[in-house]
Amino acid sequence: MRTPSEKTPQQSTTATSHFARLRQSTVSRTVFAAIAAATLIGTGLAAADATGGNATDTVAVATAEAREEQTQAGRSDDRTEAEASDDATTETTEEETTATKEAEPAAPAPDWVTPSKAPISDVFGPRAWRAGEMHYGADFAAAPGEKNFAAADGVVVQAGSNGGYGISVIIEHEDGITTVYGHHSQLLVSAGDEVKAGDPIGLAGSTGDVTGPHLHFEVHMANGDAVDPIEFLKDQGVKL
Ligand SMILES: [Zn+2]
Repeated sequence: MRTPSEKTPQQSTTATSHFARLRQSTVSRTVFAAIAAATLIGTGLAAADATGGNATDTVAVATAEAREEQTQAGRSDDRTEAEASDDATTETTEEETTATKEAEPAAPAPDWVTPSKAPISDVFGPRAWRAGEMHYGADFAAAPGEKNFAAADGVVVQAGSNGGYGISVIIEHEDGITTVYGHHSQLLVSAGDEVKAGDPIGLAGSTGDVTGPHLHFEVHMANGDAVDPIEFLKDQGVKL
């Protein structure tokens, strides 16, 4: 069984690249790309309609359109002073916006990450398949041996066998928020360990009250109330 001191930089790198791959494979990213492509094609088609041409090269049309706009913006000779003044105001605002963007520091490490790269297999709420039972977490269809990760920086306050949760981990985070990770086959952390968001904390399994291997993940507010983990993570900017 590993102890935290055996963790190597290579493991951290591996975890990071897992997240990078996860982000690349998310449905929302694909949908975004599809919308972006549709928008570009739409712009090209509209431009082609206006000029009576065809839309075989939408990028070229869009580029030509952009150039024409620039030329028009630069032509101010035959405009009134009021129009020129409006332009000046607009340009100043745009410059300020750009300056603000450039002044922002490089994106810091995310505060919250997904606890598993496996797909979500069950959500928070009443169990559809077991009458009267409430599911206080979200499940990820992690294969046996697949790594589970700390969802945020924190301190491990429980690590080991824990009733229906099987071999589980509880991490306490800032503001008294706690996260629970159930059904491991093996743990990679011990109680008292400090962990960072994305650190591997254990290997998925099927210990405790389960019908198959998966990660059961809960998020509790400081008052102890369990909240919908997926909605919570999305609110923290995590792409799932
Ligand atoms: Zn569950």
